[in-house]
Amino acid sequence: MIPYLDLPAQYRSIKPEVDEAVQRVLASAQLILGPEVAAFEQAFAAYCRTSDAVGVNSGTSALHVALRACGIGSGDEVVTVPFTFVATVAAIEYAGARPVLVDVEPGTLTMDPSQIERVITPRTKALVPVHLFGQPADMDPILEIAHRHGLRVIEDAAQAHGAEYKGRRCGSMGDIATFSFYPGKNLGAFGEGGAVVTSDRDLATTMRLLRSWGEEHRYEHRLKGFNYRMDGIQGAILGVKLRHLEAWTEARRSRAALYDRLLADAALRTPVVRDNCRHVYHCYVVRTANRDQLRQTLADQQIQTGVHYPIPVHLQPAYADLGYSAGDFPVAEAAARDVLSLPIFPEMTDAQVEAVASALRVPVQA
Ligand SMILES: *Cc1c(COP(=O)(O)O)cnc(C)c1O
Repeated sequence: MIPYLDLPAQYRSIKPEVDEAVQRVLASAQLILGPEVAAFEQAFAAYCRTSDAVGVNSGTSALHVALRACGIGSGDEVVTVPFTFVATVAAIEYAGARPVLVDVEPGTLTMDPSQIERVITPRTKALVPVHLFGQPADMDPILEIAHRHGLRVIEDAAQAHGAEYKGRRCGSMGDIATFSFYPGKNLGAFGEGGAVVTSDRDLATTMRLLRSWGEEHRYEHRLKGFNYRMDGIQGAILGVKLRHLEAWTEARRSRAALYDRLLADAALRTPVVRDNCRHVYHCYVVRTANRDQLRQTLADQQIQTGVHYPIPVHLQPAYADLGYSAGDFPVAEAAARDVLSLPIFPEMTDAQVEAVASALRVPVQA
């Protein structure tokens, strides 16, 4: 069996360090926030090349806190994409604002900058590009449009820890960036977790307040906040795992390069990588008209795959009230039909990559 990812293997590779970190937290009983979370925040801010990081309890909470720190609420509009995990759109509604969607680029499947200006209105307050699958969105034109219209930019970097755009780290380009530490993400907690990063000290202060009841001093609430605090155990484990992230990212990139080579002559499209970018391959996504059939062929050979994502957000029943319909975002809709995520994880062996590639090179009946 070739799993889609192998979290037990990752734990085995760093078990003494993780166990020691957990023991430290149990012994100190600093179970919520505390010194381990503070130390991780500092290390993660440095990793993202920002001044501040604020640990929270999920990537979704990170998005909500980021939007609220920008003052976004009822009556406002926030522009994002339909081809993303549903949380990006959900968090905009949590903040009380209206999600306005624009299509993605055909190659990278990230926000298409040429679509943004048509949807900007006097109510637009922010752009939320998603660095999908670990590849940066085209930030230069996105930042330029935001600057020209006085909009905030919040990067959804849930899949893009350590990714780079023209030498800049994902997370350091917008006003704020949000990360998820869901276990399957490139940097994963042993449970839920997330963070916001920024180099704006005022936004950082606001987000620190918002994640913990807006409490400035004990039982003194300056802002209406949330219970979005990070657990001490997660902070301690994330601190350990962050030290391995660069090596894990390079391992992902070398697995991806091997797939690229082995699949060069296969009847499918390998990932399009933007020039001057560091793709961190949260997902290695190929595209083929025979997606469902190919997925079954692989499943028959005990090879697990994923589909990210089979239904774009604007066609989800839950989001029918956004008022979009089929045909509104043709690039996202085509991608939803033909994307297939192959197994990729740092511990994956060359032999496993080769086995997946040879299963894919078998001609598929039309
Ligand atoms: C995982 C993810 C989120 C949500 O993160 P959680 O930690 O699961 O709440 C948001 N946006 C994107 C693009 C994601 O992949």
